[in-house]
Amino acid sequence: MHKLNRDFFLYLSKNKLLNKNAKRWGLKLGASKVVAGLTIEDSLQPLQELNESGRMITLDHLGEFVYEEEEAIEAFQSSMEALDFIKENDIDCYLSVKLTKLGLDVDEGLCMKHIRALLERAKQYDTMINIDMEDYAHYDQTLDLLDELRKDYDNIGIVLQAYIHSGVEDTNRLKGMKIRFVKGAYKEDASVAIQDKKKIDEHMLEMIKTHMLNESYTAIATHDHELIEKVKTFALENGIPREMFEFQMLYGFRNDVQLQLVKDGYRFRTYVPYGKDWYGYFMRRLAERPQNVAFAFRGMLSK
Ligand code: FAD
Repeated sequence: MHKLNRDFFLYLSKNKLLNKNAKRWGLKLGASKVVAGLTIEDSLQPLQELNESGRMITLDHLGEFVYEEEEAIEAFQSSMEALDFIKENDIDCYLSVKLTKLGLDVDEGLCMKHIRALLERAKQYDTMINIDMEDYAHYDQTLDLLDELRKDYDNIGIVLQAYIHSGVEDTNRLKGMKIRFVKGAYKEDASVAIQDKKKIDEHMLEMIKTHMLNESYTAIATHDHELIEKVKTFALENGIPREMFEFQMLYGFRNDVQLQLVKDGYRFRTYVPYGKDWYGYFMRRLAERPQNVAFAFRGMLSK
């Protein structure tokens, strides 16, 4: 049943017509619980509250799979404005970006021009840009572009997905980089991605341990309390300093666990999405957890 549910919502997440129409709907179906606002200005209060509670932030201007140059330029400008906004309002935050949103499928050169300009501005502001990992069709290209960018910038981070077979190898290759480890949110073929949930969990832990032992900064992005406990124990037993890792969760999920981690003295960052293009992101969250469906239906009735 869970697999059917997952496939259904992942299918919906990629529906172009629904993605397009949802931009006109405003935050519906309960999306306002997991998306901070339609604009960066709307998001200011939640951002300030997160910082006040001891949580750092990574901000994501929602949107992906952009195929028009104009749209990619617009997305780039919004991300530049977001950097200015963070600086002006003194928010402890960096940006997470998706390369397809900055024009990867339109023109690789345009996308690189955008990401380089963002990295320059972020450097001026003493912050960083983290590149989200998208579907496998963009995996190798994303890592190749990262290699190019790393030559010129050190304020850059990347995401590795634990369902990808080559995860440990890629972790070792990226020794020294800031990496966010996630399980993986897309529907991928068994030829490239592990399908068994338990095996994905084990693989994620192995990748995290590898990166920590490589003395590289590690972000553990998960809502999975069992995995979090295993990481805490490993860090303690292996003398990994707390400044060398952080936990991350999505905005609106497991707020109590987020606050407890802060209280226990761990570095913690909340991933905060905002913007009109909320639909694909929201559908992937529904795909991950059947309980989120009930949450969405309650939202549908209340909004
Ligand atoms: P799951 O496997 O979904 O959950 C494991 C267990 O944790 C559950 O069985 C349950 O016991 C418990 N649990 C989980 N959620 C809840 C809840 N809400 N309430 C109570 N218990 C719960 N994916 C990408 O592909 N690319 C990215 O760039 C990317 N960036 C991300 C950034 C962040 C900060 C986070 C948190 C996730 C990101 N993801 C990304 C999504 C990720 O790949 C997973 O799809 C998503 O996090 C769900 O997996 P999980 O690790 O949270 O645990």
